[in-house]
Amino acid sequence: MEDLYIKDTIVAQASAPGNGAIGVIRLSGDLAPAILSQIFRSSTQVLQFESHKMYFGSLVAPQSGEPLDQVLVVWMKAPRSFTGEECVEIHCHGGVYLMSRIINELLGLGARLAEPGEFSKRAFLNGKMDLTQAEAIAEVIGAQNQLALRNALFQMEGKLSRIIANIRQRLIHFLSQLELGFDFIEEDVQLFSPEECFKELCDIEKVLGELADSFQTGQLYKDGLKVALLGRPNVGKSSLLNVLLGEDKAIIHDEAGTTRDVIQGERRIGGVHVFFFDTAGIRDTPSAIEAEGIRRSKSVLQKADVVCLMLDRSQPLTDMDEQLYRECSEKSCIIIYSKSDCPPAWQKAPFLDEDVSVLEVSSVTQKGVEELLKEVQKRMNVEMKGEGHNYVLNNVRYYRSVGVALEKINLLKDRITHGRVPEECLVEDMRAVLEELNGIVGEIDNEKVLDEIFANFCIGK
Ligand code: GDP
Repeated sequence: MEDLYIKDTIVAQASAPGNGAIGVIRLSGDLAPAILSQIFRSSTQVLQFESHKMYFGSLVAPQSGEPLDQVLVVWMKAPRSFTGEECVEIHCHGGVYLMSRIINELLGLGARLAEPGEFSKRAFLNGKMDLTQAEAIAEVIGAQNQLALRNALFQMEGKLSRIIANIRQRLIHFLSQLELGFDFIEEDVQLFSPEECFKELCDIEKVLGELADSFQTGQLYKDGLKVALLGRPNVGKSSLLNVLLGEDKAIIHDEAGTTRDVIQGERRIGGVHVFFFDTAGIRDTPSAIEAEGIRRSKSVLQKADVVCLMLDRSQPLTDMDEQLYRECSEKSCIIIYSKSDCPPAWQKAPFLDEDVSVLEVSSVTQKGVEELLKEVQKRMNVEMKGEGHNYVLNNVRYYRSVGVALEKINLLKDRITHGRVPEECLVEDMRAVLEELNGIVGEIDNEKVLDEIFANFCIGK
């Protein structure tokens, strides 16, 4: 069944939907050149085409001979193509109707509409790339900033694959020693050295541990940094949010508790998306709507990477200020003395730890806003642990597998330290680690898992 399925010739629009100057239609499969030759007219016959060379000509409807468009076409001959199969690309004019008309004609000539991610899936199944590289394509296309793009390109050229391959090779070395040992059991030859293996496992653990730690950075590249503005009602959160975003996102009101919902907006800092959240002040209140706002704020606070705690310097401090300060103790927290344009009601908040630095900010004069943005960037660099020169994990699937592999390596180390564990058990544990790592690069037996991974791609990829 699988073979037949692979041999279908598939077609899809590879360029973005909507009208555009140029549109690209992609065909992949054994029939691709034959299908093209029935619809394309030029001075060179399709079957005489050189691989990877563009030819100009016209497309005509095969039944009626009616002209469809003037196009450039290219045939990338198997196996030197993206999918490893015969691949044809038609570069036509990018009209929505025109492209759907061309695709319909190609379907009539025996092609089948590609499923989401099917081109990449074929590339993977035909051994053109491993799963991490296929998945990197989606990351390259979806990258929102330079850091995410660079990381996706690292992955596409095989950086993650090589890290995994290296670890696998080291594990297989010990696995084969153990297995060979079983064959020479009578002869008392000691091939496997527990000490050497333990040392290697510590090293592998370090590499995988660094990868797991980099996941947070990967998430930041992809999802951006979340910064929550926290403070009791009326400290100036909405006003500051508006200044930071340069637009009237939040409703500003003198009455306490106006910002009832969580309001967010984004701006870029150092190439990374930074999302600012304005949270409703956390306080006891009988109002149901506000209570809901408070509940949401607490959950936002949990999700925030950085918290800006605002203390209104124009008003006396309250217990609530101190309580909120304690709430943020686990977070990367920037302390802001707000409304610094007003005469101060106090000089220093007594509950702050000695070494805590504060920023004086005014939303009216905008004093301190630049400094605040710089401080956010500083925190972001700390959270990102580095400046984008190393590959970082960017996918939950890899992160989970690395986590499981780490647990299993730990178990393996335990067993080796305690000694007296049958070597069969070590073999089993090592195989379990290998299986997790194999899963990352795509040596997966389960067709369903693969389908699920590629179904997340869009059509034409
Ligand atoms: P929130 O409840 O914390 O979101 O506070 P708002 O942003 O709604 O501000 C409450 C009140 O303080 C409004 O009347 C604002 O105009 C005023 N306010 C906010 N920021 C400043 C500031 O930097 N300076 C001065 N003088 N007033 C401010």
